[in-house]
Amino acid sequence: MRRRPTWDEYFIEMAKLAATRSTCPRRQVGCVLVKDHRVVATGYNGAVRGAPHCEDEGCILVRNGDRESCVRAVHAELNAIIQCAVNGVSSVGCTLVVTDFPCVHCAKAIVQAGVVKVIYLSEYPDPHSAAILRAGGVELCRAVPVQGHGYRVVPVQEVQGATSTP
Ligand SMILES: [Zn+2]
Ligand SMILES: [Zn+2]
Repeated sequence: MRRRPTWDEYFIEMAKLAATRSTCPRRQVGCVLVKDHRVVATGYNGAVRGAPHCEDEGCILVRNGDRESCVRAVHAELNAIIQCAVNGVSSVGCTLVVTDFPCVHCAKAIVQAGVVKVIYLSEYPDPHSAAILRAGGVELCRAVPVQGHGYRVVPVQEVQGATSTP
């Protein structure tokens, strides 16, 4: 018999679909903000309204510490939170389901927007993000692919200065 996807799996697939709309070739990130099993907002990383896209005119790369990142694109998580503001929909109490672990800037926006839980797929080790999310009381879970059938969503254990799965 067909295996029906769980709610988490349903929203993980939606986040992956949103990521396909990304216009930054460096990293394609997608997310959905969810409350009571309903999508409140979606987001993917791309240039601001009216500006050229990374894939057309190239990324704007800035070196920050030991990492180089693209500053042209608005991140997926921030776009979803901004969509709430634009539409006058509250993000308080939402769960954010996202393809990649949030960066430090998005982590701050996630806490300030009242998001209570983050479920992410791919690891992107940033000790500052993890610390900010934890300090803000945001529950952190990682979606681990299960061979052949969907995902297992596991709480991320607290490890000094990093994220890791049990
Ligand atoms: Zn870019
Ligand atoms: Zn970010």
